[in-house]
Amino acid sequence: MVLQRTFVMIKPDGVRRGLIGEIIGRLERKGLKIVAMKMTRIDKQIAHKLYEEHVGKPFFNDLVEYIGSGPVVCMVIEGDEVVKVMRTMIGATDPKEALPGTVRGDLAMSKGENVIHASDAEEKAKKEMSLFFSPSEIIG
Ligand code: UDP
Repeated sequence: MVLQRTFVMIKPDGVRRGLIGEIIGRLERKGLKIVAMKMTRIDKQIAHKLYEEHVGKPFFNDLVEYIGSGPVVCMVIEGDEVVKVMRTMIGATDPKEALPGTVRGDLAMSKGENVIHASDAEEKAKKEMSLFFSPSEIIG
């Protein structure tokens, strides 16, 4: 058993479309544990930190606008090898290629507006969690 924590976020389109319950239900039914959760908005400064690796790419400005376009729901999720498990559960970045059964495969169509974020590595998970949660807000 490799107990890990990862950062998961329901993006503005997911919140707008009323998918919070659907997505949280999937995580809970899978057997993962929510150890922190909050609704917030992502300003430009946070967007640059969260998507540091994409600064300067052609889609970056649209991404910043989209991610700040409405509230998001941020979570820290705990479980055995949860970084990999969550990446499998969210599906490919482009929902048209994401497999049925994944969040993006079942619930999205647009590569830009793809409903959910999950950290792609343990180090990234630590960094991303710290952007949104203080240690005392994570209830282990
Ligand atoms: N994105 C986009 N166009 C692209 C690639 C990415 O709009 O060609 C957006 C999309 O919302 C994606 C986010 O940028 O989820 C981060 O991209 P990344 O490659 O890190 O994908 P993810 O880790 O979200 O699957």
